[in-house]
Amino acid sequence: MSARDPIADLRRIAFLLERANEATYRVRAFRSAAKTLGALPAAEVAERARTGKLTELSGVGDVTARCVAESLAGEEPVYLRRLLATEGTDLDEAAAKLRDALRGDCHTHSDWSDGGSPIEEMALAAVELGHEYLVLTDHSPRLTVARGLTAERLRKQLDHVAAVNEALPKGFRLLTGIEVDILADGSLDQDEDLLARLDVVVGSVHSGLNDDRAKMTRRMLTAIANPHLDILGHCTGRMVSSRPAGVTGPGDRGHRARTRKESEFDADAVFAACAEHDVAVEINSRPERQDPPKRLIRLALEAGCRFAIDTDAHAPGQLDWQRFGCERAALCGVPAKRVVNTWTADRLVKWTAGRS
Ligand SMILES: [Zn+2]
Ligand SMILES: [Zn+2]
Repeated sequence: MSARDPIADLRRIAFLLERANEATYRVRAFRSAAKTLGALPAAEVAERARTGKLTELSGVGDVTARCVAESLAGEEPVYLRRLLATEGTDLDEAAAKLRDALRGDCHTHSDWSDGGSPIEEMALAAVELGHEYLVLTDHSPRLTVARGLTAERLRKQLDHVAAVNEALPKGFRLLTGIEVDILADGSLDQDEDLLARLDVVVGSVHSGLNDDRAKMTRRMLTAIANPHLDILGHCTGRMVSSRPAGVTGPGDRGHRARTRKESEFDADAVFAACAEHDVAVEINSRPERQDPPKRLIRLALEAGCRFAIDTDAHAPGQLDWQRFGCERAALCGVPAKRVVNTWTADRLVKWTAGRS
């Protein structure tokens, strides 16, 4: 009998590839194989592996079949061993302390909008990472390129999240949320009653990023004053090309990755408003965003703002990118007590409810 679970090994490989920002097609090979094989009785998988018939199944290729065979033989698959051997470097002490203090993630996407994985898979990965909660924040209607959720689809999603929560381990909570577009006039792109119902509302600018300084400032101030807004997402909208050490490959959103300069706005006024209205400033951990830049994190810290160190993950493995945000926060001297996702889910939800 095998001591290893081949499906778990395939999922683990997919997770590590996502975390390393590898190309989507490579990840997909492992996720589809895990899905196909997970639907079959274990005995059939073993029999197919023994007789070399795994690759007859759709979604299972030579590489994934070899991993399964190795796993069933009780060996760590070579592919997995190689990935583990080239894992990222350790965090320095301050960043590691901050990372340890985080209990959840307030900005994540599923395949309901432009993420690559089902909600269940994202939640399970968060459980495995040791998170106590995960906030699901798919996009809002106007962001059609990202399959933003209409009010109707979001209502459906809320029912689905409730069902998923039933099946998750006790003590872990999948919280409801949205990454709502901040529209040109500063209003938020979703029905008021829905925004009020959600646990966490992240608001981000995704359009008109080149608005002039005065217009962008007004737009952001209007959104920040909206009592439904809890977290200001990736505030400058910049895209940097640099990648963290050890990261290779075109990246999961490689086709769209390009550099983009920061939007211009009056940062003093914006962060003063965040502090006044108790809106947290997001420290977005995505390697291609690194938003806000460090000078603005320092400015927000001086202004008295709270922060949320989030991944903006579009795939399970990206949930482990929080360490990148923690590194930048630590360099700027952000203390754990200013970070809302060091709180328990109860406290977080109490805070957001008290604000709207
Ligand atoms: Zn966004
Ligand atoms: Zn996002």
